[in-house]
Amino acid sequence: MADLDPRTLGERAERMILALGAISAEPRRLTRQFLSPEHRRAADLVGTWMKAAGLDVTEDALGTVRGHWASAGEAAGRNTGKRLLIGSHIDTVIDAGFYDGNLGVVAGILAAEHFAKAGKRLPFALDVLAFGDEEGVRFPATLNSSRAVSGEFREAALDLKDADGVTLREAILRYGKDPADIPAAAFSPDEVAGYVELHIEQGPVLENRNQPLGVVTAIAGQSYLSVELMGEAGHAGTVPMMMRRDALAGAAEIVLQAERMARDSRGEVVATVGVVTISAPATNVIAGHVVLIIDIRSGSDPARHDFVDRLKSAIRTVADRRHLGLQVTQTRNVATTPCTAAIQDGFAAAIAATGGEPLRLASGAGHDATAMARLCPVGMMFVRCRGGVSHNPAEYASPGDMGLAVAALIRFIEGFKA
Ligand SMILES: [Zn+2]
Repeated sequence: MADLDPRTLGERAERMILALGAISAEPRRLTRQFLSPEHRRAADLVGTWMKAAGLDVTEDALGTVRGHWASAGEAAGRNTGKRLLIGSHIDTVIDAGFYDGNLGVVAGILAAEHFAKAGKRLPFALDVLAFGDEEGVRFPATLNSSRAVSGEFREAALDLKDADGVTLREAILRYGKDPADIPAAAFSPDEVAGYVELHIEQGPVLENRNQPLGVVTAIAGQSYLSVELMGEAGHAGTVPMMMRRDALAGAAEIVLQAERMARDSRGEVVATVGVVTISAPATNVIAGHVVLIIDIRSGSDPARHDFVDRLKSAIRTVADRRHLGLQVTQTRNVATTPCTAAIQDGFAAAIAATGGEPLRLASGAGHDATAMARLCPVGMMFVRCRGGVSHNPAEYASPGDMGLAVAALIRFIEGFKA
C-alpha cells in the first residue's frame, strides 16, 4: 500500500498547489477563468498527474478532467458497479488564492493514487473530477461544469456572454469541445453512489476551535432581498430636518436592523448588505432614491424563510415611519443543500481516525456539491485556512493540515459503502 503518512501527503499536496497556482492569465497574481488558455494548461497538468497516479483520464464537453480508477468488478470484466465521485474546481476568481477548489482536486488525485499505486480495487470505482466553472467569474452563471455532470445543464446557458461578448457556446468550441456532447457528460443516478468534496473552510470556525478538519452538515441556502426606497430629494441646506423623507437614512436603519436580527439569531442566519445604490448622489442633496441588496444565508431553510419574513415586516415599519415609498423584491431563493448523514458520519469517523475532533459546521459559501446533490448523496470535508481568508492571495492552508485531510479522505474511501 502506498504511503499514508500525512506529512508526505501534505508536502506533495503543497507542491501540486504551488504548481497549479503558477498557471495564471496574469504575471503576478492568480486569475484562471473557465475555458481560458490558463484553464487549458491547468487541466493538462491535472491530467498529467492523474495519469501518473495510474488513473484513466478523459475530458468532457465542458473541459472537466476525469480520472477513473476502475472497481474490482469492472477490472475483472464483470458488472461495472457504482462510482464514488471526488471533485472540486480549478477555475479561480480574479487575484485569487491558491487553495480554493484546487486543494479538493489535488486531494482527490492523491487519495485515488493511494489505491491505484497499490493496485487495490474497491467494490466501487473512483472518479476524480476537476471542474472548471465554480466561481462564475467569466459568464453570469456558476456550476455549469458540475451541472453537466449531474445532468442538470441548462441549454439556455450556452447563450450567456462573457465581458468580450463571447458566448459560452463559442467558448466551448474554441476550447476544442462540442456543445452537442454536453448530455454525454452526465452520469445517471443509478451508477453513482455519492459525491464528496474536500475544500478550504473559507471561514474562521476551525481555526478558532483549533481543529484542522471539519464535517460539513449543509451548504447554506441563500436569499437576496432587493429593497427600493423612494423618498424626496431636496436641498441639504434648506429642508428642515423634521420635513425630510431621506431614503439613505432609511436605508441605513434597514442595514442596522438586518445586522441586529442576524446577530440575535446566534449563528443560525447571516445577513449582509454589500450594495447600496444612491440615485444621483451629491454632497448637498438629500437622497431621494436608494436601492440596497440584502444577502441572507442559513444552513436551515425554515430559519432563513422566517428571517426573511420578519425582516420584510421590519423594513415596512421603517419605511412607514419615515414616509418612504417601498418596493421589496426577493431576487434569489436557493434552498439549502443538506449533506447526506451517512457521508457526514463517514467523514467524522475518518477525521477521528487521523486524530482530529470531528467538528460539524455548515458551509456559508456555495460549492460544486450544490449541483451534484441533484444527482446523488453528497458530503464535504473542510480544511482549516489561515484567518478564514479566501478569494484573496493571502489564502493559506498548511501542508500539515492538507496531509491530514488527504489521509482522512483515504480513510473515508476505505470505509465507504456504495
Ligand atoms: Zn471553491
